[in-house]
Amino acid sequence: MNIGEIKQVYIPIVKVTFSYTYVDDDEIKITNAGEHKFPIKKLFDGSTYDLFKYNGTVAIYKRTEKKKNYYFAWGISNRDSKYDKSIGEQVHTYEWAEPVKISGATRDYIEDISPLKKGFENINAKLWDYYSFTTFKPDLWITKLHQYQDRIRIKEEQDYQKKQEKYARENRAQCGACERYIERWDEGNWDGVIYDHGFQQVGHRAGVCVGARYQPWEKSPEGKIAYIKDLESQKDWLLNNKPDEKLLAKLKKSVEIYVSFKKMLKELYEVNKKEYEESVRYFDRSDDDFIRWIRIYHNVNIETQYPVNYLHSLHVWKETQLSELLNVWQAKVDLLTHLIINEQDKVDNWKAQQTPKEKRDASN
Ligand SMILES: [Zn+2]
Repeated sequence: MNIGEIKQVYIPIVKVTFSYTYVDDDEIKITNAGEHKFPIKKLFDGSTYDLFKYNGTVAIYKRTEKKKNYYFAWGISNRDSKYDKSIGEQVHTYEWAEPVKISGATRDYIEDISPLKKGFENINAKLWDYYSFTTFKPDLWITKLHQYQDRIRIKEEQDYQKKQEKYARENRAQCGACERYIERWDEGNWDGVIYDHGFQQVGHRAGVCVGARYQPWEKSPEGKIAYIKDLESQKDWLLNNKPDEKLLAKLKKSVEIYVSFKKMLKELYEVNKKEYEESVRYFDRSDDDFIRWIRIYHNVNIETQYPVNYLHSLHVWKETQLSELLNVWQAKVDLLTHLIINEQDKVDNWKAQQTPKEKRDASN
């Protein structure tokens, strides 16, 4: 866990949502209950007030110091939600009422001071509702949170156990490269190496995982060593191909070719629109399809061009600067450097282990 990081949790057992943070390794502090903060110090009348009860629109605060109780109600006086076209999202706005001092936290007091619901003033509908209040019980909630976390942990352990049983049944072991559990290849002379399996490699290559056909991680670090070699060769390639003005010019040339391809396609489409749309159904239409169609019916040959990008990360266009390429390039070099160090550390600390199947067989 990260100390200071605020997390929100809904605890089903007590039906409560609150935010909390770790103040040290195992001490939790609740920071918010719904929208409401606490304790409120010297905010209302110079005394300290603690959260007492709350719901989605209002919280009742109780004075902690004196025997005779005073309360403050503090909540939302108006809420609105509008669709904002410019960002394509529903935007919620809240207005908060001035805190109001009350001498009791009962239904009547709260109804007395509750603002009228906007748009429902004529029927005297109140915004603050006493009935849906949750009593603020931080100690109880923290206990329940711990219980809840324990349940999740137990569930995860059970899931882990189930997976291990499945891996044992299917004779799966961990691939040294991608670290997934893959079946071992036991037939013939393969001696239990990892089967071929696909994996999206870091960088730009997709295909068969480099860890395939090596011993699983439990038996040998050879799969990971091959993976590190692969990462190193990717890094070497990058170091030998640092972007420069020449590369930028080359990419921009491709951009020009792509732009004129799109322009030509558009013009051809305009001219042949009617005929094309009559012969091809709406949902079958695409650039590729149009290119095929115009080749067959009008004997026009166009070579498909694709948008230009650099290292599969940066979309290149006519205004792209060399500094942008260098940023992408540097980020890839840094990522690979980091990965290589990380993976090498695992190899340095490698120890032989049993595979899930070996573990199961040993315990039977
Ligand atoms: Zn793999």
